[in-house]
Amino acid sequence: MLNQIKGLHHVTSLASSASKNNAFFTDTLGLRRVKQTVNFDAPDVYHLYYGDETGSPGSVMTYFPFPMAGRGRPGVGEVGRTAFSVPKDSLDAWTDRLAMLDVDGLGRDTRFGEDRVLFDGPDGDAFALVGTEGDARAPWTGGGISDGMAIRGFQGADMRLRDEGASAELLRFMGYEEVDRQDNVTRFAVPAGNEANVIDIETLPGAAHAAQGAGSVHHIAFAVENRARQLEVREALMDTGYQVTPVIDRDYFWAIYFRTPGGVLFEVATNEPGFATDEDTAHLGQALQLPSQHAHLREKLERVLEPLE
Ligand code: ZN
Repeated sequence: MLNQIKGLHHVTSLASSASKNNAFFTDTLGLRRVKQTVNFDAPDVYHLYYGDETGSPGSVMTYFPFPMAGRGRPGVGEVGRTAFSVPKDSLDAWTDRLAMLDVDGLGRDTRFGEDRVLFDGPDGDAFALVGTEGDARAPWTGGGISDGMAIRGFQGADMRLRDEGASAELLRFMGYEEVDRQDNVTRFAVPAGNEANVIDIETLPGAAHAAQGAGSVHHIAFAVENRARQLEVREALMDTGYQVTPVIDRDYFWAIYFRTPGGVLFEVATNEPGFATDEDTAHLGQALQLPSQHAHLREKLERVLEPLE
């Protein structure tokens, strides 16, 4: 069993309008845009990152906005809902705020004793704000949301699967422990993680497979401290029979990817070097940053990419 994985690193989803996506995460949810770059594998598409002040691992929601993308169809074989941690006594204020801003899909529920506000992003992306106690992560308050209310980072994510067997086994191998079970949901958590520690598996035996589109999660990334720990994880996964990509340099972290038995794309990403490599912390996310391999495309990209504000 591995002990290098310390919770989520980031969650990456698909969007349609870049400007609506940007407005939702920075204005409505009050996160900080910590990087404005392009998809390194398809540079005519943005890659937008939102998180806390520095984009700490476990706080970073990222998007590939494709302006013409149709909506995804929810189903099994994907991450269904992404959950953020907020102070327990802020849920009523969040409900009022999201209602005032006409956010879709607004609701409340309780899962494993934690109260949640449920809502949709601009492309129908499913989110929850989970009321938590004692989450000591410092929130970004530059987006105009008070310290008593602001998002601390992820609490976790839930995977919708036809059956949980092989994916539960994989999570245990990755160092997660089963902590609770309620109806068709099994909760796993990684001990001594970065607070983005929870993965819920929701089992839906008869459900259709998801079709990816705007609002769908593309992949979730798990955090490891550094490249040495990442290589240990890679080797262990390959020894277990997983097909894992080589280590890929994403400028702000190094990444490896593999597909889980349930169909969800997993990434393992390093906490090093972080987002302050090509611009300083005070100015994160303000200017379009291009990786060296795409720097020659700047003039064209600045013409074709949708302005954000
Ligand atoms: Zn990623």
